[in-house]
Amino acid sequence: MSRRAAGILVLFAGSMLAGSVSAQDLGPQVRKLADGVYVVAGNNYFSNSGIVLTQDGVVVIDTGQNPIEARKILDIVKKLTPMPVRIVIDTEPHPDHTTGHFVFSPPAVIIGAAGAGESMRGREREAPQRIQQLAATSPEMKAALEGYKFIPPHVEYNQKMTLNVGERTIELMYLKGVHSEADTAVWLPKERVIFSASAFVSNQINILRPFVTIPDILAAGKMMKALNPEHVVPGHGPPGTVKIFEDGEQYYALLLERVGKLMKEGKSLDDIKKEVKMPEYVGWANQDRFPTNVEAAYKMLAAR
Ligand SMILES: [Zn+2]
Repeated sequence: MSRRAAGILVLFAGSMLAGSVSAQDLGPQVRKLADGVYVVAGNNYFSNSGIVLTQDGVVVIDTGQNPIEARKILDIVKKLTPMPVRIVIDTEPHPDHTTGHFVFSPPAVIIGAAGAGESMRGREREAPQRIQQLAATSPEMKAALEGYKFIPPHVEYNQKMTLNVGERTIELMYLKGVHSEADTAVWLPKERVIFSASAFVSNQINILRPFVTIPDILAAGKMMKALNPEHVVPGHGPPGTVKIFEDGEQYYALLLERVGKLMKEGKSLDDIKKEVKMPEYVGWANQDRFPTNVEAAYKMLAAR
């Protein structure tokens, strides 16, 4: 064999080992954000997931909208590397991010913010038939649920945690009062990629639960923007840049202005809910959630 041919063979074997399958080969949902860092974008506002390859195994961020998606993510990991998924990080404890835990664990250790397990157990108590109902939605879903087990996080952290996995540094940051009882932003400082949880979702109205506040959401956006990320992957909706935070800031500023104006006119919350309109955002998904946004704006302004 010529030296050149041998060299090409070595290169080829090397690229196979490094798992440098091109992102196109992994399907239209997969985008490479940095070397070894991928996003699996959920179709139609399904939750987004991240795959981070390291020398010591794989870290997965969120396990997909449902078990069908979770299995797709695991298949993508297997195309990228023969290494196991060692860690799963939850950006939030809701079922559309966590029902797929069992697909990865064991062997993966699951990590969430303090309160994540309690939130998951609460949902199980509220809807004990949830998995049976999910299985009944289609034969594919039933098959994907094979071996289902309820798995809350093995590890819960407070405020902040740094993971050093292989050559990677992964920072977990608790986001207070932005979406669920236990939201986590996942920051890769060297790669400048942030998985920003559901504090902001792109092109979509978010659901603001009673414990969620607009000042907390805006503070989270400010904090994450200050990190100067190159890529922003929200919990749902198309991944992008810090523009996702800026779009959200603009939206809340306009909402507060309009709700505030009606409050000054002496309107009640019920009246305001009927009257306030945001025609600039009719293109955003989940318009049915808008009343929860009006409530949060009213609560914030009334407290001033
Ligand atoms: Zn959620």
